[in-house]
Amino acid sequence: MIVVLRLGHRLGRDARISTHVGLVARAFGADFLIISGEHDKKVIESITNVSDEWGGHFDTVYKKKWEQCISEYKKKGFSIIHLTMYGLPIQNKINEIRKKKNLLIVVGGQKVPGEVYKISDYNIAITNQPHSEVAALAVFLHEYFSGTELDRQWKDASKKIIPQKRGKQVINQ
Ligand code: SAM
Repeated sequence: MIVVLRLGHRLGRDARISTHVGLVARAFGADFLIISGEHDKKVIESITNVSDEWGGHFDTVYKKKWEQCISEYKKKGFSIIHLTMYGLPIQNKINEIRKKKNLLIVVGGQKVPGEVYKISDYNIAITNQPHSEVAALAVFLHEYFSGTELDRQWKDASKKIIPQKRGKQVINQ
């Protein structure tokens, strides 16, 4: 089971990027998203609506206390993977991480509390350059699944794209 924890969501300012964290988590093979920071019903609804239409049973919930959330998943035996530009290069660690089946992947926002670096089993960098939680999550999941997530079939989707060389074809099923 792959769970993503998005830290420090801010109402209004982070709506778009937190939604994209959720959409990327779902599309690239995670099972579940937890958002902490400020409670934002609209973001949760947007991600849930996409999941309802495009399939796959991806859930999103809000948890106020990220500390409690991380320690609960630790107790359940999940490996805690914190994505940060200050961490160890993914290319040196991904083979070891792939052996672990239950992950809590933590992505930050504006400022990540120091405890996150300490409590995490792995602090992982997708390059040691600053970029974005959305990009970091996509690359991490793509590496973790070795690209197999690209072939996933989506169950119970009401909409499906028929890939086209040009133009768009969407079927409602
Ligand atoms: N100083 C932050 C850091 O520790 O990576 C950058 C803040 S960035 C606006 C928000 C989030 O994007 C970070 O908390 C981290 O999860 C992710 N992120 C940004 N660059 C990253 C990188 N090179 N490798 C892994 N994660 C990154």
